[in-house]
Amino acid sequence: MSHSELINLTIAEARDKLARREFFARELVEAHIAAMDATRPLNAYVTETAEKAMEAAKRSDDRRDHIREIGGSCASMEGIPIAIKDMFCTEGVPSTACSKILKGFVPAYESTVSANLLRHGSIMLGKVSNDEFAMGSSNTTSAFGAVKNPWKRADDAADLVPGGSSGGSAVAVASRAAMCATGTDTGGSIRQPAAFCGIAGLKPTYGRCSRWGIVAFASSLDQAGPMARTARDCAIMLEAMAGFDPKDSTSVDKPVPNFEAALTGEVKGLKIGVPKEYRAPGMTSEIEALWEQGIAWLKDAGAEIVEVSLPHTKYALPAYYIIAPAEASSNLARYDGLRYGQRVSGANLTEMYENSRGEGFGPEVKRRILMGTYVLSAGYYDAYYRQAQKVRRLVSNDFSEAFQKCDALLTPTTPTPAFAIGENADDPLAMYLNDVLTVTVNLAGLPGMSVPAGLDQKGLPLGLQIVGRAWDEETVLRIGDVIEQQSGFNSLPAGLAKL
Ligand code: GLN
Repeated sequence: MSHSELINLTIAEARDKLARREFFARELVEAHIAAMDATRPLNAYVTETAEKAMEAAKRSDDRRDHIREIGGSCASMEGIPIAIKDMFCTEGVPSTACSKILKGFVPAYESTVSANLLRHGSIMLGKVSNDEFAMGSSNTTSAFGAVKNPWKRADDAADLVPGGSSGGSAVAVASRAAMCATGTDTGGSIRQPAAFCGIAGLKPTYGRCSRWGIVAFASSLDQAGPMARTARDCAIMLEAMAGFDPKDSTSVDKPVPNFEAALTGEVKGLKIGVPKEYRAPGMTSEIEALWEQGIAWLKDAGAEIVEVSLPHTKYALPAYYIIAPAEASSNLARYDGLRYGQRVSGANLTEMYENSRGEGFGPEVKRRILMGTYVLSAGYYDAYYRQAQKVRRLVSNDFSEAFQKCDALLTPTTPTPAFAIGENADDPLAMYLNDVLTVTVNLAGLPGMSVPAGLDQKGLPLGLQIVGRAWDEETVLRIGDVIEQQSGFNSLPAGLAKL
């Protein structure tokens, strides 16, 4: 098969073809390394590990030969080339959270999620970019520079953001420079970039994937998840990533289902809730129309549509921007110039701390540390932090009530399509509005997925979000798969057709 045919396969297709020996893992990996080279101007990768990947591919082919001889079956992602977000610690490979303060940090250990993926046979191509410490919605705050979306508006040449914080992951997958990538999602960082880049991305239930070895942003919200081109590929990847981990006290000891088996193509009899509060201010009419279209698709496929109310939705974003910075300010206290990464010396110990933190953190990270420290300080804790925690409970209760009436919710993922690099840059509040439809799901710890469902008039991809009950990723994936079938979305960015 040609390189172009190989990089356009889904994981499910590649898995089946590898099993039938239509090609070797080393050919699949080689084709993706060529795509990494060709798409380098998009700046998705921050560390490429092509040589290691080729060696791993040879070992994968050997393993497959051996298993064939003894008559066993291969691991679920044997030979599949993947990208890992730079928030994950990878043994012997720089892991920086795309911050200057972690420059030069090479972990001596592997995060549980990436270790699980490797154990299932996948092959790491390299580390991909994110907003510094996963704080952002545009992947413009990475210490490695902005990442570019492979999609462009039909009528202008402006470079668009890929969304964030998992922008590098979304771009690597959309531009065929990886078959899938890990993401982390604290307030929308898997779903929003997936929507902006025309791919699928799933934030699992809090506790489904281990957070061990992932650079912590806001520990009560952070969750790792799969980003891939189809719901089926997300199902395959999630099964390989997930599972109980005694090293993470918030990891939950539940069996990992066969997520792919949940994709029955059927939604007949399912009740889909449509929350009226998700008509966000500033939402484009095309996104509203796509939402209506999504509702119609599911209805046609036999689902029952019910209107539900999530009355505290409008308080979710302000609550998130108190809770997330509060946790971040505590988590980021460990970067003091002594233990990890970059140190900037000073006349005494305090000055060394100040210099290291002052030079190491970028402006958005500093803003979050300041906000977080403020809302946790003695005089303001009750007024802000405690109030935000109460709002969090109310948001979560809203979902519990809605799920008395329905099995899953359907909403848009974002209020707008991808915007140009530089837009919203001087207005943090405008940037924060990107998350208005996604943060609720993190506050409540629920599974949420974005699937690409159509293009706007300028040719940019738009996503629909499916939210499920806790631990019910299966229903979320099943609905996502049906929307994908109905929309017939072709996720190839126009500019990449010639690759
Ligand atoms: N954009 C949101 C933020 O800046 C969410 C980030 C995330 O999910 N990591 O906090």
